[in-house]
Amino acid sequence: MKVLVINSGSSSLKYQFIDIEKNEAVAKGICERIGMQGSKITYAPIGKDKIVKEAPIPNHTAGIRLVLDALEDKEFGVIKSLKEIDAVGHRVVHGGEKFASSVLITDEVIDVIESLTDLAPLHNPANLTGIRAFKELMPDVPMVGVFDTAFHQTMPKEAYLYALPYSAYTDLMIRRYGFHGTSHYYVSRRAAELLGKPIEQTKIVTCHLGNGSSIAAVDGGKSIDTSMGFTPLEGVPMGTRCGDIDPAIVTYLMEKLNLDVAGVTEYMNKKSGVFGISGISSDFRDLADAEHTDERAALALKVFAYKVKKYIGAYACAMGGLDAIVFTAGVGENDRRVRELVLEGLEFLNVEADFELNMTCPRGATVDLAKPSSKVRVFVIPTDEEMVIAKDTARIVKEMQNAK
Ligand code: AMP
Repeated sequence: MKVLVINSGSSSLKYQFIDIEKNEAVAKGICERIGMQGSKITYAPIGKDKIVKEAPIPNHTAGIRLVLDALEDKEFGVIKSLKEIDAVGHRVVHGGEKFASSVLITDEVIDVIESLTDLAPLHNPANLTGIRAFKELMPDVPMVGVFDTAFHQTMPKEAYLYALPYSAYTDLMIRRYGFHGTSHYYVSRRAAELLGKPIEQTKIVTCHLGNGSSIAAVDGGKSIDTSMGFTPLEGVPMGTRCGDIDPAIVTYLMEKLNLDVAGVTEYMNKKSGVFGISGISSDFRDLADAEHTDERAALALKVFAYKVKKYIGAYACAMGGLDAIVFTAGVGENDRRVRELVLEGLEFLNVEADFELNMTCPRGATVDLAKPSSKVRVFVIPTDEEMVIAKDTARIVKEMQNAK
């Protein structure tokens, strides 16, 4: 079975075409600046040079048409006919409490995703645009929705409830949902394999550290807590997002800086995080370059790592034990300095990291950074959210076909 995985944003559309039996991507790419001037499609058949083509992409349907044309292209395509696309898997950011697992997309499912727009006003409408465009272009191909929030639906109530009046939960759906679920799911399974234990017998803290970051406590294979909350603003500081702050700061900022709701939302989402502290960049590579010459760049790294460390401690406590810490995503997989800062001083938790190996291990590889004597393993595991989406899609479509 071959599955096209789609991650549709407001002005971009990432795609990956995956051969399920071979367990590998065949082609991938992105449409950028959809609906704007200067739109372009990047197409990369795996193992060959990528092709970038500037073309008008007025909407998502036009973008998807370009993707399908590229996949089918006589010269550099990877399929002979669109019939070779057996299913489409869509990343959907917010499934609220409605979806605890991936689902076959029906008109009813589309309505439910739409009804959750209040919870993810930027993301869910963009995801739906991609879904609707495919429905129009390939109405007979089954589609599956895979939700960022679904993996965290196993959190117990004490972990997901905020101490607000209970009606905030019942009437306004305010609770912790958590995000990056497909990534936390994938790396926790890989970690259990590397531990050589059934996932049910493991206690793992997964650190998805990228432009957006979240930490999860995965106990027995289930998410029991995670650092992102009602929105992806909570938790550790991020590229430009503030993460946890005293909620009273919000109204104080509004008063002192004369900001309205949109203004304070932008302040916390776009101007804060490691960018806000350093004043230099949201990109950890730039901070690493400036660490020894710029005090605030060094401080931004320290604040970030300190917060990650605190979550690891909190989640070891929440699970009553710890078998492994996992680092994944852009920063977790690549930023040795951040990993060093996070891992320093965790010996009391039976975490003995090999700091030399941390500095020398190859990027993009799966590595165990713990010393042989360490009771807790420390894995770097490249995440693969697209593969999770593709496999879930294939499983659900096969189940549907078998039921017929
Ligand atoms: P992601 O959101 O997972 O794509 O991660 C993107 C972020 O990873 C970038 O903004 C960088 O801050 C970080 N990153 C990528 N490569 C490196 C690297 N070699 N060293 C440090 N940070 C990196």
